[in-house]
Amino acid sequence: MSKPTPDVYEQGKGMDAHNKVMREIRSRKEASYDPHEPTRVWLDEDNTPDGVKTSLTIILNTGGCRWARAGGCTMCGYVAESVDGGSVSHEALMNQIDVCLEHEAENGDEPADLIKIYTSGSFLDEREVGAESRRAIADTFADRDRMVVESLPDFVDREKIADFTQHGLDTDVAIGLETATDRVRHDCVNKYFDFADFEDACAEAAAADDAAGDDADTGIKAYLLMKPPFLTESEAVDDMISSIERCADVEGCHTVSMNPCNVQRYTMVDELYFNDGYRPPWLWSVAHVLEETADVDAIVVSDPVGHGSDRGPHNCGECDDLVQKAIKDFDLRQDPSVFEQVSCECELTWETVLERERSFNQPLTR
Ligand code: SF4
Ligand SMILES: [Zn+2]
Repeated sequence: MSKPTPDVYEQGKGMDAHNKVMREIRSRKEASYDPHEPTRVWLDEDNTPDGVKTSLTIILNTGGCRWARAGGCTMCGYVAESVDGGSVSHEALMNQIDVCLEHEAENGDEPADLIKIYTSGSFLDEREVGAESRRAIADTFADRDRMVVESLPDFVDREKIADFTQHGLDTDVAIGLETATDRVRHDCVNKYFDFADFEDACAEAAAADDAAGDDADTGIKAYLLMKPPFLTESEAVDDMISSIERCADVEGCHTVSMNPCNVQRYTMVDELYFNDGYRPPWLWSVAHVLEETADVDAIVVSDPVGHGSDRGPHNCGECDDLVQKAIKDFDLRQDPSVFEQVSCECELTWETVLERERSFNQPLTR
């Protein structure tokens, strides 16, 4: 008779169980998407180590994230937007880039300084974006100032980064770290890697930075997730404050983008929300974390997507736009005094939630 091993014991538990649930939820998705069109593209402004720059943000439609196919992160609905069949050809990827350039030409006054490419996965994973496409995209944007590409830490590699820095492009790799706390990343987000892997990726970026000399700078932009499922409001706030402090201490990580969780379709968060088990964070929590961490040695920004709606980060409905505006002001100026100018009666409710909400009675408010 076979003996149970710890691996067998773990089957159906922990990450295995999360993945099983997420696979089932994602399989309900029916839509499919055209591989010749980007998922989204828009123009904006961004705070970078060289100041505020005009930016073109591109969400490339690649085959989707490998981890999402295994089940994936509890809050991430991106796979629902990826292409059926799981891979996109070089030609189709370049068609997507052309669509983005047309969008920029039609809507911007001049070419954006900063190009940000997200893929609902990892731009540096060659199963999603092959070396040929990566180099062609680097050539296309060679005349810009700065690039941001998204990747999981495993795929961060000094030679891939050199495809961009060789054109003199300052290059940042955006990593969805979500939190510096391994326990929260594993058990609440269901993301497989450790903080140590993030530190290794930062070291790889630092090596790429050295290799490029004075021609170009390379760094890491850490993306954090405020309030994954299963954390109370106060646990989420504490987790973000310590995560921002830990990221800012890692060499090579110059920016932290702390983003409140929103409820996306085809996710575990959506199931919990539907069954009254999840409330996105308060905007007061976002403001509080930014205020508390204003003195760390990194740029800290936040972009509350879907602010003011039930499925996005929100306060009482009356003050959401004002607080959101203060957060956007903070992003550009890094001055915590912007939050002194906003107040609302619902702050008292938020403070009570911080004090009284426990895992067994959450969410305490809507
Ligand atoms: S958050 Fe990133 S790693 Fe997680 S499933 Fe989504 S795309 Fe994949
Ligand atoms: Zn309010």
